[in-house]
Amino acid sequence: METDFLVIGSGIAGLAFAVESAAYGKVTIITKKGRSEANTNYAQGGIAAAIDSNDSIEYHIKDTLNTGAGLCNEKAVRIMVTEAPSIIKRLCELGVDFTKAKNGKLDLGMEGGHSMRRIVHTKDATGAQIENSLLHNTSSEGITLLEDWIAIDLILKDGKCIGVWALDEKNNKIFSIFSKIILIATGGAGSVYLHTTNPSIATGDGISMGYRAGATIANMEFVQFHPTTFYGKKIGERALLLSEAIRGEGGILKTSKGNTFMEKYDARKELACRDIVARAIHFELKNTDTDYVLLDVTHLGEKFVNKFPNIYNSCLSLGLDPLKEPIPVVPAAHYLCGGILTDLDGKTNIPNLYVAGESACTGVHGANRLASNSLLESIVFGFRAAKSAIGEIKKIHLENSTSTSIKNNLNSSICDNNIISEYLSDIRFIMWEKVGIVRNTKDLEDALSKISQYKIEIDALYEKHAISYALVELRNVVNTALLITKCAIMRKESRGLHYVLDYLAKDDILYNRDTVISNNS
Ligand SMILES: Cc1cc2nc3c(=O)[nH]c(=O)nc-3n(C[C@H](O)[C@H](O)[C@H](O)COP(=O)(O)OP(=O)(O)OC[C@H]3O[C@@H](n4cnc5c(N)ncnc54)[C@H](O)[C@@H]3O)c2cc1C
Repeated sequence: METDFLVIGSGIAGLAFAVESAAYGKVTIITKKGRSEANTNYAQGGIAAAIDSNDSIEYHIKDTLNTGAGLCNEKAVRIMVTEAPSIIKRLCELGVDFTKAKNGKLDLGMEGGHSMRRIVHTKDATGAQIENSLLHNTSSEGITLLEDWIAIDLILKDGKCIGVWALDEKNNKIFSIFSKIILIATGGAGSVYLHTTNPSIATGDGISMGYRAGATIANMEFVQFHPTTFYGKKIGERALLLSEAIRGEGGILKTSKGNTFMEKYDARKELACRDIVARAIHFELKNTDTDYVLLDVTHLGEKFVNKFPNIYNSCLSLGLDPLKEPIPVVPAAHYLCGGILTDLDGKTNIPNLYVAGESACTGVHGANRLASNSLLESIVFGFRAAKSAIGEIKKIHLENSTSTSIKNNLNSSICDNNIISEYLSDIRFIMWEKVGIVRNTKDLEDALSKISQYKIEIDALYEKHAISYALVELRNVVNTALLITKCAIMRKESRGLHYVLDYLAKDDILYNRDTVISNNS
């Protein structure tokens, strides 16, 4: 199969790239499940943009840099924040129906770490609204979207990326897809952890593929744990997220005995940044030996139902009426700040290979992501990558290399699903227990040794058995888990999302830099 622009992933980053590049060549999107099964589709709170008359680009930049704890790439932040207002306009033109206030202007929400109300949203289902609108715009001629196609590995020739190997799951066939430009937009890696807000697609596939191909990876230790997810019951495999915006609207955190505690940890209390709130909950749980804290919204009454209708209904479906009793909550893995290192146009160190969205490390988040900056990053850098690729494509010849091959053993035996599930559960448990919200060197080293051993065993399984969807994901999960753990061990300080009991202080002399790792180093 041949194309001009190959997009791996159909979340906001991949779709933005596809919409932008469609007029300049044949676009093929492959996505490993249904077209809208992406983190994007579950985003609730919204997308940040300094559009209020009291707000300014400089305030948004300042909040982003403060949250990033000294590691943000200021140039990238400035680009993202400056482009935000026009991105909102563009999204409206693409059909996104953002919620309006009574005065007809966009309703702006408030979230932790922001000094102003600047969260543009569609009630509490912003991601689904954006995903659907972008999908609608990719139904044009020139764009082919293939569902249930999982990318396995990148194809390289003379150091350049020339395509990808992919499994068409429905027909159980492996194809090579050759392309002038390849965009990885496979999202994050929440599914590497036992508890996560992410759907099961988030297995770090793009980052692992990139790593195997020699792409430079950065800052994998910075995993964001969302402080508030519904305790004890899941929706499918996901923990139900209770958006940051709920605290922005007055939701209060309490111990299971009903006492407030955030005042002990930060003057901003419930509106402190996510890492601070997640750690505060972690310590409260340890100190009180309880399994959850409470998010109390009972005093918000109808305001809660109006602002968060989907969350309200989801809570009801889980058997709890948030207007009558506080919601039991715990933190869960939510967002990966690290990924494949890119420049300001989404380019990687491998020619013709671009990355955008949660798989990328553009530098905008540094050591911690400011709430509602990730949809923004994905779309700003998705568009920028497309613009750069459009400029490059005229210079690139399509390589259809018949000399490349992949271990194509679809006739070999299928790996037993129980074995795959056991490995997955073990890795997720280890990551949760030892590479979680609060870390220590002994646990990290223990995790490294166990996961390294699993990697050897899983690579052997991969060699022996037929390539299958589950095996491809398992191979990527173990690889991503290892990258996170290795980066966590390399950073011997506490900064942003990376909090190590043996190194509680921030060390600006030795560690005011990205943690960089590659297969070639
Ligand atoms: C519950 C939840 C709430 C959130 N709320 C917000 C919010 O309010 N504001 C905000 O800014 N951010 C929010 N985020 C984060 C934000 O949604 C994500 O960072 C963003 O959507 C990432 O977009 P993406 O395009 O990079 O990846 P995704 O949207 O995750 O898309 C990745 C795509 O890649 C596909 N894929 C993966 N691997 C392969 C493979 N091997 N082959 C083929 N296809 C593959 C997937 O199927 C999917 O289509 C939230 C996240 C979650 C989970």
